Amino acid sequence: MTMPNFSYVRPRSLREAIQHLSSDGARVHAGGTDLLGCLRDNVFGTKKLVSLSGLKDLRSAKETKEGGLRIGALMSLTEIANHRIVKDRYPALSKAASEVASPQLRNQGTIGGNLCQKPRCWYYRGDFHCLRKGGNTCYAEQGENQYHCIFGSGHICYIVHPSDTATALLAYEATFRVVGPRGERAIPIEKFYVLPSQNVEKETVLKPNEILTEILLPPHSKEVRSSYRKVRARQSWDFALAGVALALKFKEGRVEKARVVLGGAAPIPWRSKEAEQTLAGNRLNTETIARTIDAVLKNAEPLEKNGYKVYLFRGTLEEELRAIARS
Ligand SMILES: Cc1cc2nc3c(=O)[nH]c(=O)nc-3n(C[C@H](O)[C@H](O)[C@H](O)COP(=O)(O)OP(=O)(O)OC[C@H]3O[C@@H](n4cnc5c(N)ncnc54)[C@H](O)[C@@H]3O)c2cc1C
Ligand code: SF4
Repeated sequence: MTMPNFSYVRPRSLREAIQHLSSDGARVHAGGTDLLGCLRDNVFGTKKLVSLSGLKDLRSAKETKEGGLRIGALMSLTEIANHRIVKDRYPALSKAASEVASPQLRNQGTIGGNLCQKPRCWYYRGDFHCLRKGGNTCYAEQGENQYHCIFGSGHICYIVHPSDTATALLAYEATFRVVGPRGERAIPIEKFYVLPSQNVEKETVLKPNEILTEILLPPHSKEVRSSYRKVRARQSWDFALAGVALALKFKEGRVEKARVVLGGAAPIPWRSKEAEQTLAGNRLNTETIARTIDAVLKNAEPLEKNGYKVYLFRGTLEEELRAIARS
């Protein structure tokens, strides 16, 4: 495979970056760890790469007046994993970032790129003109679907959302700041990702000339216990076969509010509202845990080769919920 020809610009301001992105065929370049692979493998093309590396304001994190945290989209995954406030108050995010890929990729890859990366379906990444590339067939439905989704396909496209950090950020109810030619907008993470039934060719609501600039985490509450757990085939570097992010708020020994999010399960980070309702108002004991797991998995739709994921999620959820009950 060879790289296509394209021009490369390194603007010094957001405004300039957005102007460049408004030309046909332009794309955002952050760390390049996902983008360059897609270009090399001809998953898509480009006429111009707009590097964000000159936008220094996006490289740090700041506490907000209210006690939340603003994270610049150009912070590396290593910086997120090791950031003192992230580690202390948002441990599921720190853990998720620390388990992405390999140390080299975490040093080079940014959090913004991690949240906007393209799916890993091997047909999509290979030489197959599938539905997501504008074709008219999903090759995974009847094909090699062992790493595909068990929720949310709409019987259209069976990718799993690949980002570890997105799973954790949904549990914390993060909001994304996005800047484009018409100014900025704040998008709750829950509305950022797109299901195949909404648009099979897009993964996010971002327009081609918009940039994800910041991730806003709401203030931390001492009553919230949170965790992230990733199960993968190889311990070295690998995407999640099953990921679970939990954020449970307790009051007087009972779960007051819960966020239960699965990664490696659906085309978007998958929030289980059924599980959250089962947990709310109850003590986190053996019976509640068993009912919660049943609630999460009752609507799973495994394909021919990925039925093992249902058992993987059962076991992972049980261990994580028990660990939170003990903590
Ligand atoms: C071998 C390998 C293993 C991996 N394993 C994992 C894993 O286990 N878990 C996991 O979560 N990820 C994994 N990844 C993905 C990796 O985390 C991403 O490649 C990385 O985070 C992308 O960041 P980047 O800065 O390099 O983005 P880039 O490659 O520069 O960009 C990725 C995409 O996002 C867009 N983009 C980037 N930043 C922005 C922005 N601020 N606003 C709008 N659009 C933007 C780009 O246009 C591009 O389409 C793996 C990747 C590789 C190559
Ligand atoms: S799962 Fe989606 S990306 Fe993969 S072949 Fe099917 S349509 Fe294409």
